[in-house]
Amino acid sequence: MKSLRTLTLLSAALLLAACANQAPPATSAQAGKPKLVVFLVVDGLPQRQVTAYRDQLAPDGFARFLDRGAWFSDAHYGYSFTVTAAGHATMLTGAYPHRTGIIGNEWKDVNTGQDVYCTGDTSATYIGNKTQPLDGTSPRNLKVETVGDVLRRADPRSKVIGISGKDRGAILPAGKTGTAYMYMTGTGEFASTTHYMPAHPAWVNAFNAGKRADRYFKAEWKPLLPDAAYARSIPDSQPWYGPAGGKLPMTMGVPADDKPGPAFYSALLRSPYADVLSLEFARAAIAGEQLGADDAPDILAISLSGHDYVNHRWSAESRLSHDHFLHLDRMLEAFFRDLDATIGRDNYIAVLTADHGFMPPPEVSQSRGLTAGRLSGSQTLGRVNAELEKRFGAPKLAQFLSASALVLDRKLMAERGLQFDTVAEAARAVLAAEPAIAAAYTRRELETGSRAGAPFFEAMRKSWNRDISGDVQYALAANWMMTSSSSIATHGSPHPYDTNVPILAWGPRWVSPGQRAARVEVADIAPTLAAVLGVAPPSASEGRPLPFRGP
Ligand SMILES: [Zn+2]
Repeated sequence: MKSLRTLTLLSAALLLAACANQAPPATSAQAGKPKLVVFLVVDGLPQRQVTAYRDQLAPDGFARFLDRGAWFSDAHYGYSFTVTAAGHATMLTGAYPHRTGIIGNEWKDVNTGQDVYCTGDTSATYIGNKTQPLDGTSPRNLKVETVGDVLRRADPRSKVIGISGKDRGAILPAGKTGTAYMYMTGTGEFASTTHYMPAHPAWVNAFNAGKRADRYFKAEWKPLLPDAAYARSIPDSQPWYGPAGGKLPMTMGVPADDKPGPAFYSALLRSPYADVLSLEFARAAIAGEQLGADDAPDILAISLSGHDYVNHRWSAESRLSHDHFLHLDRMLEAFFRDLDATIGRDNYIAVLTADHGFMPPPEVSQSRGLTAGRLSGSQTLGRVNAELEKRFGAPKLAQFLSASALVLDRKLMAERGLQFDTVAEAARAVLAAEPAIAAAYTRRELETGSRAGAPFFEAMRKSWNRDISGDVQYALAANWMMTSSSSIATHGSPHPYDTNVPILAWGPRWVSPGQRAARVEVADIAPTLAAVLGVAPPSASEGRPLPFRGP
């Protein structure tokens, strides 16, 4: 009897959980449309960091979300190659890379071997700033629409603006018809591109004339709290930080420089200051474009890039990352205060997420007794080619790695009369046998779905685009990374430290407070915002509306 009752209670609880998961968000019909959607991204913020310092948060920064908003604590990316561009392309389209076409930050054209950058478009240039051939200047490679595109089609008065320290962080959320502005490491300015406009509006020129980045020349990034507050994080100056080291306080700019230059403007990205600048530029955009001022809803997407640079350089476990998060928290509080004053608390909804999480550095995993390390891409390619040559008698059948996939030489296979599927399967077997690789699947398997249920298969299919991706997709084993000259830790795996990111929402008219523990996906954000804005979900969306109103 007891077990039966337990079972009944359990089923009731499960049913309730299922209902909560399917409860529709507050729609525009119930609550009215917000005048402004403030969409915030913290680049490279794993979910675990959001709760690690909860006792040290300001009263109204992240705490506004955690205490007075909706907090989805088990939110994940549903695909395997969790990198910046892929994440930013998913957030407001509700679609994963197999549909967006943004499979990585960069990849190689499978036919020509040419480098492709996610937001590269040589037909457009930065306004008033130098442009390199692979710089990000337009959403040309994004194959699907965003919720902002749907909104602007419904009412062209609606404005959609993307702002970020990184071009891809601004361009991809701005979609096909929004406007993107990004931080320029050559000048410390924010610039748009000729894809969007022939010249900057007056408010952008006025902002840049203020030379705001220069205020931080030789400024010191100091820890926000007394030393004891950081006992839970890894102390500064770890030997594995590399020759540049890493400790607070940190002076902005190369000591020998006597005036701000590109090295200084780049260094600001690895500090709280580029994020301060992004939020200042966002305030200028609100005033300059009159965002949230009329009854046609606007979207302001702001991707704060600094945390990702900090975590690549010193890791998410470091004191520097801990302190960077606390700085973000205080920035957020000040930004909320200004939004409350300019837009009005009842007129905007704020949503925050991240484009991916972060792995612990291999040194930290090893100290915890885990198998972890770094895999050389070129050596792996060499081992695959050695095996393929032994078996098929042709050298270099595997040409290169591209966006977590291996690309085979079709021309060579044709010349030697080799079957594509046979060679691909042999290459897959070599990759799958590598201790640092968790899974590998061939083009045919990914195309046909023949390995349904196999480890990471569904997530890897969602990262794989048949027109753009390579011939054998692979995913790294947990706690492994590819060798890198610039990063001591990274992201890009299907493991929870990379896929589990915050989804936080605040806006009393549309969001009821409380933690939501059910598993949800980042693809769910776009259809949710579409419902809040009273428009159709973006056409390629594969998400389900989040329960902003429940449980
Ligand atoms: Zn990122």
